[in-house]
Amino acid sequence: MTLLGLGAAAVAWCAFVAALFVGSMVAPGARREGRSGPDGRRAYRLNGLALFALTGLVVGAAMALGLWSPAVIVRHFAALLVVANVFALVVSAVLYARAPGAPPGGLGATARAFFSGRAHDPAWAGVSLKVFSYRPSLIGLGLVNVGFAAAQYERHGVVAAPMAVYVALSLAYIANYFLFEHGMLFTWDLIEERFGWGLVWGDYVFVPFFYSLPGWYLLDRIATPSPAAAAGVVALWALGFWLFRGANGQKHRFKLDPRTRIWGRPAEALGDRLLVSGFWGVARKLNYTGELLMYVAWTLPCGFASPVPYLPVFWLALFFPHRARRDERRCREKYGPLWDAYCARVPFRMIPFVY
Ligand code: NDP
Repeated sequence: MTLLGLGAAAVAWCAFVAALFVGSMVAPGARREGRSGPDGRRAYRLNGLALFALTGLVVGAAMALGLWSPAVIVRHFAALLVVANVFALVVSAVLYARAPGAPPGGLGATARAFFSGRAHDPAWAGVSLKVFSYRPSLIGLGLVNVGFAAAQYERHGVVAAPMAVYVALSLAYIANYFLFEHGMLFTWDLIEERFGWGLVWGDYVFVPFFYSLPGWYLLDRIATPSPAAAAGVVALWALGFWLFRGANGQKHRFKLDPRTRIWGRPAEALGDRLLVSGFWGVARKLNYTGELLMYVAWTLPCGFASPVPYLPVFWLALFFPHRARRDERRCREKYGPLWDAYCARVPFRMIPFVY
């Protein structure tokens, strides 16, 4: 990694984020109202899908014309990783300094406020930074993954089946996020959390550079899996997708209209507030289970020779239960005895009869 390489990576990274930011300001997209949070109720322009599609078109055209290959990302991975970390630090520092109100005193309180953030939902030029940051994060992850496929093609003259399956499934997951981008407005990340270094680093560094670990691993592995193994991977991914998208979709529809129908019957809710129909009557966090299964599915093409490509799966297997416990603490405070009644009626979190 040379100084020149770092400089080029910095220019490319800033151009990528800036292009998406300008795109977020001007690209067409539905305006949707979010839930009321500490900053009140806000409307958001949801154009992530347009930006994802546009990025795909631009990259596809550049590749077809021989002008640019995403394999460059893999060659400059280390420099981009350094740049993304510096970027996350700088953005967090600016957010910290520009947040309204007086900063906390004392080193410990300052460090905590820097990590957790001081502003809830800061906006620049009318663009919510929280909603925006998922765009470079996930479009970045998609580009890195496509970069691994392109790099494999350059090295071996082929995109092998394990890589193709991994990249296709991860791109489908990203496309689904943007199709369902309005669901983001109802997550407690957006409503409750403040926007500090923890979330910023997660968006700009952790997601694109860590979640793409299976792509690294598959770069030089060009063995062909059996059709049965490939079908098993796709089936597991589809099961995860059904749980993840199904559970999130049911809750979302219920929040918008408590009289919505779920699995063909009117939604049932405790105290008219906590859904106990559909997936939410089977376990309390099947959306987390579904997402975890999707990560497992697209990592399986890596085989079992090394635990390294499974690190994102191991991380999520620890992260989701921890997040579920945090969320439940919050729900118990918000719903009181109603939450306890829900837990009594639906006793399992992520795996019925197990956990
Ligand atoms: P949820 O979508 O599960 O939302 C939790 C909130 O939903 C609760 O705080 C409560 O909020 C409401 N709720 C919970 N149970 C019920 C019920 N039975 N009926 C009605 N409302 C209920 O969690 P997250 O916001 O954590 O996650 C959203 C998605 O993002 C998930 O699919 C998750 O997999 C994904 N995610 C992925 C991450 C990754 O790194 N890959 C990281 C984090 C999340 P209230 O009632 O106040 O609205």
